[in-house]
Amino acid sequence: MGWAGRTGCRHRGGRCDMSRPEPLFSRVAYIGCGLINSSLARALAASGVAGHQVAFARTRATRDRVRELGIVDTVADAPDAAVEGADLVVIGTPVSAYGEVAAAIAPGLRPGAVVTDVGSVKTSVIRVVEPHLPDGVHFVPGHPIAGTEKSGPDAGFAELFHSRWCVLTPTPETDGAAVAKVRRMWEAVGMQVDEMDPEHHDRVLAITSHVPHLIAFSIVGTVTLLEEHLQAEVMKYAAGGFRDFTRIAASDPQMWRDIFLSNKDAVLEMVARATEDLASLQRLIRHEDGDALIQLITRTREIRQGVIAFEQD
Ligand code: NAP
Repeated sequence: MGWAGRTGCRHRGGRCDMSRPEPLFSRVAYIGCGLINSSLARALAASGVAGHQVAFARTRATRDRVRELGIVDTVADAPDAAVEGADLVVIGTPVSAYGEVAAAIAPGLRPGAVVTDVGSVKTSVIRVVEPHLPDGVHFVPGHPIAGTEKSGPDAGFAELFHSRWCVLTPTPETDGAAVAKVRRMWEAVGMQVDEMDPEHHDRVLAITSHVPHLIAFSIVGTVTLLEEHLQAEVMKYAAGGFRDFTRIAASDPQMWRDIFLSNKDAVLEMVARATEDLASLQRLIRHEDGDALIQLITRTREIRQGVIAFEQD
């Protein structure tokens, strides 16, 4: 038997379907329906994990588009109406909106509901969401480490999460049964799930994602300050290195502003380390220390091989 157990009977169009498992969550509400939440809704629609799916987004234009795309069963026009009766709520807005979102959904949440999220930082999210949630509602902070540089419901696709990692960051107060259900949901859409302390998550992500993005924004930003004729040549001859940076630097401005500001301490710590290492590299070049350069690049090459080997595992 699968994750959900089997029901004796589910009535569909007047017929009994003895073989269909009861969904893990009977009603899933998405607050925000952009790249991540629309991908999750698409993936869950095919998984049997979710019964009815309902979404809310801030603007009428996005809500209309979600309706047109048919990503969910219902689109709600208010956040508290969206979560009414939901046994799972997934917050997928920019993290700077989380406090406002948690306050807006609180009146509609039913006792026993599980609220989770997909935000890229975790300590600050827990700090702003938990105080708004009524007693008996379980918050399970989460971060699917999967994405693209695109935004909005048109950018989402069901396969986004396949073979990627999702990190859940429960606190000592988080309900264990709620964590287990959220884990099963992410596994159902193809993710491997780890649990981590929220502060640890934020330090790991600072170095694996936030600082690499910061460096891409900085390097591509440098081009905007070059003289015009040099800029034109950079565009024309943009090869491997710079081209890869431009893809990362095309990411959503609001999302990345929020990540840097809400993970400020960990980002500044890792930027300080990276800046020291860049200065050492500058010194190696100034002193024409070729052996040390070879040693460094040999080490970084091994990291690349390690990453590829890990993905193949
Ligand atoms: P997105 O495509 O820009 O979508 C954001 C959604 O949130 C839109 O539907 C937007 O509605 C809605 N929204 C914005 N402010 C709102 C508010 N105050 N109330 C209700 N809805 C609101 O963003 P995304 O890339 O899916 O990112 C969502 C979350 O996932 C972020 O917290 C991000 O840190 C995290 N994340 C992103 C990635 C990635 O690669 N993109 C990866 C992992 C995790 P409107 O269109 O109407 O404004």
